[in-house]
Amino acid sequence: MVMVSGNRHARARRFREWSSGINRVLPRIPGEVTSVIEELKARGFQAFLVGGALRDLFLERPPEDWDVATDALPDQVEEVFPDRLVVHTGKRFGTVRVLAGEIPVDVTTFRREGAYTDGRRPDWVEFRESVADDLSRRDFTVNAMALDPLAQKLVDPFRGRRDLRRRVIRTVGDPLSRFGEDALRMLRFYRFQAVLDFRGEAETERAIAQVAAGDPSLLAKVSPERIREELNKLLTGIAAGKGLRGLVRTGLLTIIAPEFAPVVKTPELMEHLIATVEAIKPELHLRWAAFLHDLGKPATRTQDGTGVHYFGHEQAGEKLAAVLLERLRFSRAFAEKVLILVRRHMFPCDPGMTDTALRRLAAKVGQEALFDLLELRRADIVASGNHYHRAWRALSGFASRIQALLREEKVLTLTELAVNGHDVMAVLGLAPGPEVGRIMQELFYWVTEDPERNTRERLLRYLEEKKKKE
Ligand code: ATP
Ligand code: MG
Repeated sequence: MVMVSGNRHARARRFREWSSGINRVLPRIPGEVTSVIEELKARGFQAFLVGGALRDLFLERPPEDWDVATDALPDQVEEVFPDRLVVHTGKRFGTVRVLAGEIPVDVTTFRREGAYTDGRRPDWVEFRESVADDLSRRDFTVNAMALDPLAQKLVDPFRGRRDLRRRVIRTVGDPLSRFGEDALRMLRFYRFQAVLDFRGEAETERAIAQVAAGDPSLLAKVSPERIREELNKLLTGIAAGKGLRGLVRTGLLTIIAPEFAPVVKTPELMEHLIATVEAIKPELHLRWAAFLHDLGKPATRTQDGTGVHYFGHEQAGEKLAAVLLERLRFSRAFAEKVLILVRRHMFPCDPGMTDTALRRLAAKVGQEALFDLLELRRADIVASGNHYHRAWRALSGFASRIQALLREEKVLTLTELAVNGHDVMAVLGLAPGPEVGRIMQELFYWVTEDPERNTRERLLRYLEEKKKKE
């Protein structure tokens, strides 16, 4: 008797947990998305909310994008929403994008898929009748649930709800064969840990270490763009350090970024880079700069009577970082934003620095990069735990001084000089050429010593006097 009632209690408790989860999720699905599901069901199709959105709703995080899975074929989906279709390239793989009010919803036919031998797209997709088949192709249990909000029915064959509660990332099915189909999933394993602050299941991690040691070429097949997107999400995640340490531990990092091989052999340096990532604001270019800033240290290390030195490690690091960012197909503009920070991260950070020197630094790196450099230095200091107080004071002093200089418009760039290259050529009788640029630079330096000098009159007088002296 006691047993029976105990079971009943346990069952009732499980039911409460299960239903309360759904009850919390239902009101947070936008009506527009629910109506897409409703319209498909009205035509006799099945339709479920699936993937990352459902996971995020359970976690009370705002979903990034909305996915609906259905047994309707792509043509049939198009017939249901003739005037709300968005032109989209996914149809061949079963995805039709529908505009639900303002919200784009990707409606995808239940499918199974083959291996990604080109690392971009599955070799084949096969449409299926059941949502369970569709869920079984998905990467992780927490991403492999489906909810019919109208029937209030959750389909969860791989116990994704339980893993969400335990905060675990675990593959659907055998990790080795799932990574064999698509090696990108190994990176996604760490990306979700970093973004959600979950832990990775140990068996899954062992499989990754095994792949990394045994068949490192597996990841070579994955397109650089897909790798880049996963790394970007990982780096900006709230638990970025956790994800990065996993990549290091399993050997994945050196496979995707061989530039890190010497760093990984110096665990204190690797840990310093990760700690800098954790300490810096979660903006993409700052996170990358933090991760890469000391990449040049192993190659430039020297030792003499006075200690260990890394002369020129910024330049060496910048070169390695440039290769890495280009391989991942970052835009040149983005790469330059990161590289300037790597290149300049050793800027003198001395409380005694003069306004002139600060203005010149601002002019050299640009105003935006200047504040980024301060942030990078701050994170660098926090991450090394060294000379914390002195450098910290210098930095906060810098920030307010630079802000004051900006307010007084005393920070200039070359284009803000009150004269231009034509004036220089006219006064000095020069033809276009590098000499003109050199003299503009000279004027600029003269002005940074005293911004009051930046008037057309005074600059022309300066040029006249220069001419007289020649
Ligand atoms: P995000 O919030 O970053 O968009 P997400 O979980 O939605 O996270 P997506 O990359 O948008 O991730 O993929 C949507 C869904 O498609 C995933 O939740 C997962 O079910 C499935 N999926 C995506 N990529 C893969 C893959 N490489 N292998 C298996 N399933 C995948
Ligand atoms: Mg998504």
